[in-house]
Amino acid sequence: MGAMQRVTAEAAAGLPVLTVDLGAIVANWEVLAARARPAECAAVVKADAYGLGAAAIAPALARAGCRTFFVAHLAEGIALRRVLGGAAGIQVLHGPAPGSEAAFAAHDLVPVLNSSAQAAGWAAFAREAGRPLPASLHLDTGMARLGVPPAEVATVAALHRLDVGLVISHLACADEPSHPANAEQRAAFTVLRGQWPLARASLAASFGIYLGAGYVFDLVRPGAALFGVAPTAPPNPMRAVVRVQAPVLQVREVATGTGVGYAHTWRAAAPARLATLGVGYADGLPRSLSNRGAAWLGALRLPIVGRVSMDSITVDASAAPEAALAPGTLLDLIGPHCDVDTLAAEAGTTGYELLTRLGDRFDRRYLPA
Ligand SMILES: *Cc1c(COP(=O)(O)O)cnc(C)c1O
Repeated sequence: MGAMQRVTAEAAAGLPVLTVDLGAIVANWEVLAARARPAECAAVVKADAYGLGAAAIAPALARAGCRTFFVAHLAEGIALRRVLGGAAGIQVLHGPAPGSEAAFAAHDLVPVLNSSAQAAGWAAFAREAGRPLPASLHLDTGMARLGVPPAEVATVAALHRLDVGLVISHLACADEPSHPANAEQRAAFTVLRGQWPLARASLAASFGIYLGAGYVFDLVRPGAALFGVAPTAPPNPMRAVVRVQAPVLQVREVATGTGVGYAHTWRAAAPARLATLGVGYADGLPRSLSNRGAAWLGALRLPIVGRVSMDSITVDASAAPEAALAPGTLLDLIGPHCDVDTLAAEAGTTGYELLTRLGDRFDRRYLPA
């Protein structure tokens, strides 16, 4: 939700374009919800909905029937409460930093408690408030990132005044269905959640939903799959959500041997037509795409040549007719012929990182749900 979102149409001319298809996000949520039924399908919209704009996305999901949203930070929860109004459940994965309990209660945010210290702090706050305050509990079943370690579970279970509505855990290796850690974590979770027999249970995020019915429990927490990242082996059951386009700034014909871009990391092996496009690493296009990956003119693949610069890239457009490359023409970096996972793989990263790094400088457009 950067400043560039508010530029006028004229001022947006020449900017790279990020188009987010809200209808596709809703359709993806419905696919996941159908797969998880009768469990509830929540939506993870942390990091501004994976960089795509929680203010537009969360209300569209709420209108489609999503009732529970997860964010990482208190500040994200407060912002989301403002956007969604009173009805939605909002859970904050990092839980309360010491002293922030009152802010959670004031904004009707449910903390996900990750340690016995956080749980004790929340129980003490509820005691002062004189009423039970709902919380979720994250148990570490084998990721060693966040969550109550198994050795502390008994301490937390003994806390009075803890109104635990949901017990969660998170899978470390769900993107590898045959990894033994998946079944181990599921078995550990099944035992540990038994300490809170009245609470609902949640283990699966996007990939976990595709590990099988035994991973679904009472609520699933997809994030990435909502935004088109494939949660399972091909074919991707999710619809594409994101299109990233960059305008042609300039076209030139170069002779054999011409060095391109900083440090001349690419040289023309033959006479070539080059097109310079207005998107760069300042927009979140990974610099690791230097001499890797491509932009697309329709179905025509135009390889990135030379280094990714801050504000531009250069592609070998020899395969494209010059008439199709007029300045301002938009080429796809992510689009109908190149999905987010493919570009991420070419950059040596994941769709998660690629999406969350897309910057504030795009002309952001939302296709309605
Ligand atoms: C980010 C996160 C999710 C969502 O994960 P995806 O792989 O994007 O679906 C779910 N649960 C927790 C605890 C998370 O941190």
